[in-house]
Amino acid sequence: MIKNKSNEEYRALGIMGGTFDPIHYGHLVTAEEARCQFDLDAVIFVPSGKPPHKKNYRVSDAKHRYLMTVLAVVTNPFFDVSRTEIDREGYSYTIDTVREFREKYPNTEIFFITGADAILEILTWKKVEEVMDHCRFIAATRPGYNLNDLDKKFKTIMPEYSSRIQTIEVPALAISSTDIRRRVANNMSIKYLVPEAVEQYILKNNLYKS
Ligand code: NAP
Repeated sequence: MIKNKSNEEYRALGIMGGTFDPIHYGHLVTAEEARCQFDLDAVIFVPSGKPPHKKNYRVSDAKHRYLMTVLAVVTNPFFDVSRTEIDREGYSYTIDTVREFREKYPNTEIFFITGADAILEILTWKKVEEVMDHCRFIAATRPGYNLNDLDKKFKTIMPEYSSRIQTIEVPALAISSTDIRRRVANNMSIKYLVPEAVEQYILKNNLYKS
């Protein structure tokens, strides 16, 4: 697990959770926006190994998703990537990840950053109350979402924890992994939607062609 350069604990840390199939500029802008708005010392990207909720969709090999994430974050000194979910056996449950970070950084405020749509499904997650006890959430939305409506939904689904979920609107999240996969499959350009190194990686490894 990553520690900061002086080997001291972080004061506030972001965990950026996602499948990242592939990672794109929307994810990178989200992480940077969260870092700045919430004054985070660092953001650690944690690509899912085996997502429990995607049993019907064939997710790309974890090795590719991990390497693309490394390529994408390399130029930001505040970003890093963790292999923890990639290396863990079985399904990737967020509870196991936040427990691990909590143990490693007992005095650090942890923010779990991910898409608002994913958080709206949070009641289906394993041990959700314990997840909520370990960290606060930053829910990133695509443009067009009504943030008040979203806050109301969080209040409805988990009234006792809604104050621990903050929403941020990220215009760059108009970019989506689904659209990128569709574009590659249809031989359309993905230039300027993903970092150039990620684009080259996708082409070199023939990802998303079928
Ligand atoms: P998803 O259901 O594929 O994504 C839902 C929406 O959120 C999509 O529009 C997606 O856009 C967006 N999104 C996903 N990650 C994002 C991020 N980091 N920043 C901004 N937008 C994001 O979600 P997922 O990627 O599979 O899962 C999100 C996180 O929730 C992961 O860390 C996953 O492990 C966790 N999760 C845990 C459980 C559990 O513990 N049982 C269950 C479900 C999810 P893109 O497609 O463009 O990314």
